[in-house]
Amino acid sequence: MKLDLEPETHQMRDLVRDFARSKLNGAADPHPEQFRARWRAAADLGLTGCCAPVEHGGSGMGAADTAGVLEALGEGTGDTGFAFSVAAHLLACVTPLVHFGSEEQKRRWLPGLCSGELIAAHAVTEPEAGSDAMHLRTRAERVGDHYLITGVKAFITNAPVADIFIVQAATEPDGGVFGLTTFLVEAGTPGLGIGRPESKVGLHGSPMAEIHLDGCTVPVDHVLGVPGGGASVFTASMHWERTCLFAVYLGAMKRVIDSTVAYVRQREQFGTPIGAFQAVSHRVVDMLLRYEGARLLLYKAAHDLDQGAVDGVSAALAKIAVSEAAVQVGLDAIQLRGAQGVMHGEAEQMLRDCLPSRIFSGSNEIQRNNVARVLRLDRLERPAHGA
Ligand SMILES: Cc1cc2nc3c(=O)[nH]c(=O)nc-3n(C[C@H](O)[C@H](O)[C@H](O)COP(=O)(O)OP(=O)(O)OC[C@H]3O[C@@H](n4cnc5c(N)ncnc54)[C@H](O)[C@@H]3O)c2cc1C
Repeated sequence: MKLDLEPETHQMRDLVRDFARSKLNGAADPHPEQFRARWRAAADLGLTGCCAPVEHGGSGMGAADTAGVLEALGEGTGDTGFAFSVAAHLLACVTPLVHFGSEEQKRRWLPGLCSGELIAAHAVTEPEAGSDAMHLRTRAERVGDHYLITGVKAFITNAPVADIFIVQAATEPDGGVFGLTTFLVEAGTPGLGIGRPESKVGLHGSPMAEIHLDGCTVPVDHVLGVPGGGASVFTASMHWERTCLFAVYLGAMKRVIDSTVAYVRQREQFGTPIGAFQAVSHRVVDMLLRYEGARLLLYKAAHDLDQGAVDGVSAALAKIAVSEAAVQVGLDAIQLRGAQGVMHGEAEQMLRDCLPSRIFSGSNEIQRNNVARVLRLDRLERPAHGA
């Protein structure tokens, strides 16, 4: 496994980290204008299109380099929510358009998505269909040269600010995985409504809302991929998301581990830095161990993606490892700061930002199911005679 990033990626990581430290470290501001100003600044650095082809306005990066850039963003900014929004746009929206879009669709939308003019959201989850994402209630019915889409989508990242939505809907209600189709739906399309922004425990810099589709009228040339091919679009984009989006959390872990090391060296009790107590120092080493282990799994998954892996095992393992390490790092960072840890600040914010990571992109329980399925653990295999 070759883990070296391209030289240009190293340069971009430095630029992105510096930019995030200087421009993205104020408190998350949910105001749409402030969000868009941050978005444009991030786009000017190439963050919103780094894995799109150069001819469509991107930087043509593969998965490992994309992860490298997002890791630097997560390390530089304390606004993990904003970094999450950028990554969701990139991995669940730009990537499927790159891999499944027609030439006409790519020419039409990719330049704006890369330049920061357009923000995207990916709408799959519904109030009654979360983990069971292949059984959607949202229906799309073809009428002449249009589809009429009706349904509700819940917990949609970027929905309050999005210009374009990638929407999964059932075109064959009893068609199972072959019954879903993906649509590109522009904001302002008749029949599309956006709910009130949701308030969540962490990721405050990432706007989220429901979307309501009420006979939303979408031309047939807005189908992404082929009719009935929605599951493939969803699965491919989730492999990218489960790998590269979680690099944001690697960066956040690094930032918080560094500040925790500084804290335990500075905080004195019993006449000595608390880092001298074995219970403290071992906890710090365990933080590092979790972070480094998760980091290796993530870059292994990115490498596999760049080599064309399709079973999603390494992506699922990376997602589980990073999200569980991040939550534990958040808990440890709080514990090591004592009462200071539960005051509003970096450690408690880290924990709040990390809690959702075990749920989105397919919960960790579903990722374990996915890996178990590939291992065929439910198959009865009788030992051969004489064995
Ligand atoms: C911050 C955040 C951002 C999100 N952004 C988006 C977005 O942009 N677009 C989008 O479409 N969705 C988004 N989601 C929704 C996310 O994809 C779902 O929350 C997720 O798929 C889980 O669905 P659910 O919340 O309905 O939980 P449920 O499916 O109701 O699951 C509840 C619990 O039961 C467990 N469970 C369910 N089924 C099984 C099973 N078969 N085996 C074992 N355990 C099981 C789950 O693991 C979980 O612990 C986001 C969620 C969050 C928290």
